[in-house]
Amino acid sequence: MKLQQISENCFAALNEKNRARDANSGLINLGGGVVVDTQADLSHARRVIELFGKVWGGMPKRVINTHEDGAHVWGNQLFEGAEIIAHRTVPDRMKQVADPSESQKLLDGAERLLSRVMLRATHPGALAIARQLRQDYDFDGIRLVLPTTLFDERYVLNLDGTEVHLIHVGPCHQVGDTIVHLPRERVVFAGDVIFRQCTPMGWTGTYDKWFKTLDLIIWLDPEVIVPGHGPVCGIEGAMEMKAYLDYVREESKRCFEHGLTSLEASKRIDFGPYRTWRGPARLYASVERAYREFRNEPADAPWDMARSFDGEGARNRGRVLRG
Ligand SMILES: [Zn+2]
Repeated sequence: MKLQQISENCFAALNEKNRARDANSGLINLGGGVVVDTQADLSHARRVIELFGKVWGGMPKRVINTHEDGAHVWGNQLFEGAEIIAHRTVPDRMKQVADPSESQKLLDGAERLLSRVMLRATHPGALAIARQLRQDYDFDGIRLVLPTTLFDERYVLNLDGTEVHLIHVGPCHQVGDTIVHLPRERVVFAGDVIFRQCTPMGWTGTYDKWFKTLDLIIWLDPEVIVPGHGPVCGIEGAMEMKAYLDYVREESKRCFEHGLTSLEASKRIDFGPYRTWRGPARLYASVERAYREFRNEPADAPWDMARSFDGEGARNRGRVLRG
């Protein structure tokens, strides 16, 4: 993980390997300090504290969670006493989608032979994901610490005269998606609305909402964007994300009209200009999401996680680990 200064008062802690669950954190070094997102386990959160400790005056007064996914909230407990801010939906959504014990069970299952045999037989994709996560993460000891300051559409912080705008943009990648904009610093912390140099994962939300959000980010005209995953970028990162999502939706549409299943489609679609991106297996989820829209299913229909991981595994012919 490395520390990068991105503006006069903003910093990013970046997981450069950009593997599964490798999310970024941000620091706004004003008004007692604000950390944006807290990583996927305690050791990664400690590393963020160590890196930001080089530039801040003490533990931050505030934490912002850009959305409810575990990789962005599982270090919350280490920021004791901090005010934790998120969209109003996030606490309940965290209970639904970010139960650390579920992820730990997956890792433990990958470890034990009997379960491993069963997992391999029933959910080979889930096993492959678990193996990679075991190398990088430990979900033991994580307590869900929920946000306490909740907002609806917008929330503005004034930090020593510098405004920080929290704008709810979900559901596009997730229900609670929030972008954090500092007009004076020309910085946007985009959360998982932007994945960089890796294929995006979309859970609850629609393609159209995602496009609108990317247009909003482009309109805000930041000099620097910190994506949820991958290296920092300018607005070209938002444009590229938009082009990718548009490409996948169009390709999915063609396959849908030819009667292919979402799994068949995800094996068939060529990555074209995006073939160097990490996590190609995640294409399956984007295709399945497009299919749900073509079938007019609700955007919040629950995901069968194991089946989804299997779809990813099949897409990548078992090479999920490279993602
Ligand atoms: Zn996410």
